[in-house]
Amino acid sequence: MGHKFAEIAFTKTVREQQQVLGSRSGYAAMDEGADYNHILRNSEAAFISARNSFYMASVSETDWPYIQHRGGPVGFMRVLDEKTIGFADFSGNRQYVSTGNFKNNDKVALFFMDYANKTRLKLLGRVRQLEESETELLAALEDDSYRARVERGFIITVEAFDWNCPKFIPALYSEAQVEQVMGSLQVENAALKKAQQSSAPILPSELGDGPLPLVISAIAQQAPNIRSYQLRHKDGLELPQVLAGSHIRVPLVLANGQRSVRDYTISSNPEQRHYYEIAVQREAHGEGGSQAVHQLYNLGLVINCSNPLNEFQLDTTAPAAVLIAGGIGITPIKAMASALAAKSIGLHVHYAGRNLQSMAFVEKLQYQFGDQLSLYSSEAGERLNIVNILRSAPVEAIFYVCGPQRLIDAVAQIADELSIDLKRIRYERFNRD
Ligand SMILES: Cc1cc2nc3c(=O)[nH]c(=O)nc-3n(C[C@H](O)[C@H](O)[C@H](O)COP(=O)(O)OP(=O)(O)OC[C@H]3O[C@@H](n4cnc5c(N)ncnc54)[C@H](O)[C@@H]3O)c2cc1C
Repeated sequence: MGHKFAEIAFTKTVREQQQVLGSRSGYAAMDEGADYNHILRNSEAAFISARNSFYMASVSETDWPYIQHRGGPVGFMRVLDEKTIGFADFSGNRQYVSTGNFKNNDKVALFFMDYANKTRLKLLGRVRQLEESETELLAALEDDSYRARVERGFIITVEAFDWNCPKFIPALYSEAQVEQVMGSLQVENAALKKAQQSSAPILPSELGDGPLPLVISAIAQQAPNIRSYQLRHKDGLELPQVLAGSHIRVPLVLANGQRSVRDYTISSNPEQRHYYEIAVQREAHGEGGSQAVHQLYNLGLVINCSNPLNEFQLDTTAPAAVLIAGGIGITPIKAMASALAAKSIGLHVHYAGRNLQSMAFVEKLQYQFGDQLSLYSSEAGERLNIVNILRSAPVEAIFYVCGPQRLIDAVAQIADELSIDLKRIRYERFNRD
């Protein structure tokens, strides 16, 4: 009476053990009321029909249980009615252990597992092998889409079933379930890749139509916003001779696709002609020229540039020089100081910036010029004292200034106030407007 699975599985000895171990009272209610859990409902029928495998236990004439795993197409265990299920036996390893056991003992235990949903159904029944003459029932067990050879058919009369708690069932997924989940992810992944490719800039391998073909042979981050580019002749030739303070006009493509050019000073020592170095400060709010350089200029890119131009001339006849740089204005000053040092002309470099981290070439200049270099960090409260610099300069010194317009204006104004001949002041503005 009551729960049919408990009625069969809870033998006298099992019940005694439950009593000893303290769980009997918890199961007592299962023995009461009308019989239940022996007639398949829609939920059991649907669950069995959705399976493509099950475990099946039989008992041998020597009382050994034997568990077999059975697999086939989804629903190969057919639900024939509310008390009967059956399956076709496909040819397997030909041991026939279950088949042999069923000859002597028709008791069978089945486990249907849904690992993905951590659910299992246990079923007890009595099994009968179909006779060859039972063609109608055999046909009901066959699967037209599964062409394995049917050797025999088994019909199971359901005696009891029980659903188990999901605890400890590992969440495993079938190949088809994984494919279903991965399929949509793969489609999404492909769409994302496509979108990324279409929005990614197509980097050119050659830019511009200037007469000087240069290839980018090295890139270095000199400061958070400043990158230097080493440029060699595309064909390995020696580069045109330059005067310190020269610049080249380089080609680029703005974000809107428009081709343009920008001027960048050759900051390397003009003595050597294997490469030019330019240093480009990325202007976040500008017209986009320097941003385009930072984005497009990669190793190996060929840029057809102008020949070197010079509007910031170095005087190598004067006995002394004072060089004043503000920020990225260091680029011509660096080359000029190198050229002056090579000619043993007395010099002093004053280099000012927001802080030392944002200023390019600081270590190189310190190494090269030692105490001929003064650094000024405005964040540290160190300001260029232009009056002192101009006043203390040797009488015939030439002043070279490059940096923000207000720096150039200040030097020119103070020089005027100090009655310094303006011919001794040379400067370059980076803004052509
Ligand atoms: C002689 C010279 C040397 C320079 N050297 C350096 C250097 O060593 N390092 C460095 O970082 N910057 C240097 N510059 C500044 C550089 O050329 C760019 O102006 C700077 O990179 C900012 O450009 P941008 O478009 O990013 O921003 P913005 O701040 O908007 O600059 C736009 C500026 O680009 C220039 N420009 C715009 N269109 C053109 C064009 N068709 N042809 C030529 N110039 C144009 C104009 O001067 C304009 O003011 C130099 C400028 C000159 C004139």
